[in-house]
Amino acid sequence: MSKKQKKMLIRIIIASLLMILLNVLKLPKAVSAAGYLVTYLVIGWDILRKAWKGVLNRRPFDECFLMAVATLGAIGLAVYERSGDYNEAVAVMLFYQIGEFFQSYAVGRSRRNITELMDIRPDYANIERDGALEQVDPDEVEIGTVIVVQPGEKVPIDGTVIEGSSTLNTSALTGESVPRECRAGDEIISGCINLTGVLKIRTTKEFGESTVSKILELVENASSRKSRSEEFISRFARVYTPAVVYSALALAILPPLVRLVAGMPADWNIWIYRALTFLVISCPCALVISIPLSFFAGIGGASHEGVLIKGSNYLETLSQVKTVVFDKTGTLTKGVFEVSGVHHSPLEDAELLELAALVECASSHPISRSLQRAHGKEIDRGRVADIEEISGEGVVGRVDGRPVAAGNDKLMKRLGIAWQDCRSVGTVIHIAVDGAYAGHIVISDLEKPNVKEAIRALRDAGIRRIIMLTGDAEKVASHVAADLGIDEYHAQLLPGDKVDLVERFLAEQSGREKLAFVGDGINDAPVLSRADIGIAMGALGSDAAIEAADIVLMDDDPMKIAKGIRISRKCIRIVYENIVFALAVKFGCLILGALGIANMWAAIFADVGVMVIAVLNAIRALRVKNL
Ligand code: ADP
Ligand code: MG
Repeated sequence: MSKKQKKMLIRIIIASLLMILLNVLKLPKAVSAAGYLVTYLVIGWDILRKAWKGVLNRRPFDECFLMAVATLGAIGLAVYERSGDYNEAVAVMLFYQIGEFFQSYAVGRSRRNITELMDIRPDYANIERDGALEQVDPDEVEIGTVIVVQPGEKVPIDGTVIEGSSTLNTSALTGESVPRECRAGDEIISGCINLTGVLKIRTTKEFGESTVSKILELVENASSRKSRSEEFISRFARVYTPAVVYSALALAILPPLVRLVAGMPADWNIWIYRALTFLVISCPCALVISIPLSFFAGIGGASHEGVLIKGSNYLETLSQVKTVVFDKTGTLTKGVFEVSGVHHSPLEDAELLELAALVECASSHPISRSLQRAHGKEIDRGRVADIEEISGEGVVGRVDGRPVAAGNDKLMKRLGIAWQDCRSVGTVIHIAVDGAYAGHIVISDLEKPNVKEAIRALRDAGIRRIIMLTGDAEKVASHVAADLGIDEYHAQLLPGDKVDLVERFLAEQSGREKLAFVGDGINDAPVLSRADIGIAMGALGSDAAIEAADIVLMDDDPMKIAKGIRISRKCIRIVYENIVFALAVKFGCLILGALGIANMWAAIFADVGVMVIAVLNAIRALRVKNL
């Protein structure tokens, strides 16, 4: 509990005790009136002050104003009627404050829970110096430093394991509770918890560029992007509150005037009382609070499952997705190619592979990385010059001074080199040396383990259209698409073609349907930002992808797409439940209040009750584990 909350609680207790005393003791009227006034001020002075400030700033129509006018009005009526019963005014203020207290407590609690769920920020990194471990600020660790992570500690910075083996708990990053094995040579991302063995890690990034920092940055900025429902609520509140105040004024004045004209007693006090009740009922706090809280909970729950959503607007859009477009390499497939053949080459296989690995040495494309691995030896970058990567086609450069090109048939066409087609299914990398064809390397990629289930889960979630786009050859594309049960695919696309196609798909959608593009950001960052929702593979994907995407899947697991959609739908459903529930109760009470059926007591109970229920409902958005 914060200091502010403690103070509030003390005020609530004092005011409640005073109220009980005033009702039990039979005090003289003047003393009792003074007692009520003191109680009223104890519990309500901050509301009065805020209301007054609002009036001074010419923005009077807020909740505080409603409460202040209603309670002061009730006191005024009690004085006018000489009833000496100020319980109502004080009680309304008291309940309002209890509601506020509960809300600030619940909101604070759930915010803290969410932040704790994502408590992945490492506090230190261990560096070995002269045989002893020294704790340093992770921010000060340079790239290439060897850090030591002991069992039970968080991996502070991304890197490569150089010594030791262990199991890792990645649940804070991916929601995956099965521990993951790692040993020397493996890449390791920050934010995992080392469970069993001591690991020595050579860092490959600075702390600020490491996975943890990126995630925290994303999550911290998430709430600044407002969804349409949230904007609706703020617009609504701007119109609603003044409308309520003027209606209350009309309710206080018009019926008595009509009665006077009709020759009946005006009954001013009855109508003023009804108008005041009307004000108490009208407080829109349940909506104002519960809706941002629902989104916050939804985003928090999703991130715990390894789905990072960068803002509530994206959460809302995700829930409306009807078309999902996939990039192939690195998204549906692992992007880890194995060399399955070397054909038509005048050179030795190893020689051709070496040339390919050399000319590819600067590319971050999965193909390049796979060729490096197949080559298996250290690359002497000094032998390579003038490298140029043509995205969607391949690379050209000079190796030992001779021009070398490696890429697909588009690249060969561009260079005017006659190439040999390949009959085997796989991605074909043609190589040309000195402007002459030097054969091709066939590589093939494996599908990610659970893509088939992921595609099925998407269909189960009501996704109507699933499309695969790829820069790869037609033969490979049709093979993968058929295998995965994707009925629509487009192959041999340049990065620009992917944007054009996605634009066409966007135009083909109707009404509120949305399109999501899922990619790894290699050659497809423009598409990620063009789609209604860009979903990036976070672990394998490039920084550009994480930057351009609206949603990042931490562990590249395609199953998480359907899960993300289900999480977003649950969250949006909760938001709408709250809007409908709160408005229905409000309008119901407003009508009862205007008719004089609901009094101020009922009004405040309804208000606090609706708010409590709405907040509890909002917190439900956090529970997404078993969706
Ligand atoms: P995808 O759409 O499947 O993700 P890309 O657009 O990244 O594929 O690449 C399309 C094709 O362009 C690849 O299948 C390959 O033939 C060729 N290509 C792209 N980059 C390279 C590279 N660095 N080396 C060789 N070929 C490449
Ligand atoms: Mg790609």
